[in-house]
Amino acid sequence: MKVGILGGGQLGRMMALAGYPLGLRFRFLDPSPDAPGGQVGEHICASYDDAEALKKFADGIDVATYEFENVPAASAAAIRARVPLYPPPEALATAQDRLIQKNWFKTLDIATAPFADADNRRDLERAVADVGLPAVIKTRRFGYDGKGQFVLRSWHELDAAWKAVGGLSAPDGKLPLIVEGFVSFQRELSIIAARGRDGSTVFYPVVENHHRGGILRLTIAPAPDISSALQAEAERMASRVFDALHYVGVLTIELFQHEGKLLANEMATRVHNSGHWSIEGAVTSQFENHVRAVCGLPLGSCSPLPSREGVGGGVSGVTAMVNLIGDTPDAAQVLAQNGMHLHLYGKSGKAPGRKLGHITLTEPDLPALNERLKVLAGLPGAEFPLPTANTKTPRH
Ligand code: AMP
Repeated sequence: MKVGILGGGQLGRMMALAGYPLGLRFRFLDPSPDAPGGQVGEHICASYDDAEALKKFADGIDVATYEFENVPAASAAAIRARVPLYPPPEALATAQDRLIQKNWFKTLDIATAPFADADNRRDLERAVADVGLPAVIKTRRFGYDGKGQFVLRSWHELDAAWKAVGGLSAPDGKLPLIVEGFVSFQRELSIIAARGRDGSTVFYPVVENHHRGGILRLTIAPAPDISSALQAEAERMASRVFDALHYVGVLTIELFQHEGKLLANEMATRVHNSGHWSIEGAVTSQFENHVRAVCGLPLGSCSPLPSREGVGGGVSGVTAMVNLIGDTPDAAQVLAQNGMHLHLYGKSGKAPGRKLGHITLTEPDLPALNERLKVLAGLPGAEFPLPTANTKTPRH
């Protein structure tokens, strides 16, 4: 079976690496000549709206999927006319627009921060008044890793906010925005789940995420001290999305834990950085489960694996995933550490804010994990806060 992946970044690359043991083959469509996916599969180097390239991409594959949200709707439709495309294009449309997404969460009875929409500078004032200060102003589309966002703490900053999100260069002074109430969350979490073509579902344990500068730095899986009630609530949210969209594939919902409850921040209709821990930390990785789902294969268990010491003891371990941002450490230094796994995405050149790889490590408990993570702190690219139970991550 041949799988076509729209996007050839690290997520697509890891999907292919998970699919090869199952005898699958992969083709990528990505406009970058250096796309990491090109190192592990056939690479069609063309833009996502190149009709000829889309035809070539779809010709001879059995199923198509994608590894990023901003696939043009027309391109998704063109592919779906030729081969099955999962997750469904309806999911893509929802994921591409923060306002559509939040409205849609509302109709599914999924709790979020209060929000209002704005289209121009005057609207922005009204929306902020609706939501109250402090507020987070975000562009509705094409924002990622905290880009296109501004935290507004006082009315005096309104002009600066409008400028920061790109209002000054907006055509006709119009810019589609969403304004959200600022949530002083206890911590950030996410749930990753998969739904197969037959409607079966599996759920990974909720994980805890730590960001700096709007970029994910560290994931702890499972999230320390997560109650079974919160796990069940997160699974309920994912199930609602699955059912409403007749979803197939891996889905991620980013969450805030706030006053003992969960609020949905955003969803990604794809595998996610906060699920990388599952490659070594769970029975079946998010990448394998995604590939299994889109190919119509049975889904695998999402249970966390025991740490090295726990093997045979049946006790689940706790896994840390540390992102390597902008730089990478000496591979030998990481690999000399017993039980540490290094993933480098095959990207050439250092660049600030660029995700170049990640490291995972599983230990029997959080204190043991913390102790071992100290070795990584300060290595090139590995800038992360050491986790403690109930850590609060400062924003920016
Ligand atoms: P997003 O692009 O929506 O995932 O936001 C990036 C980061 O900004 C999140 O991981 C949070 O740390 C923070 N953030 C986003 N929305 C809010 C909010 N409404 N209240 C507080 N922090 C937020």
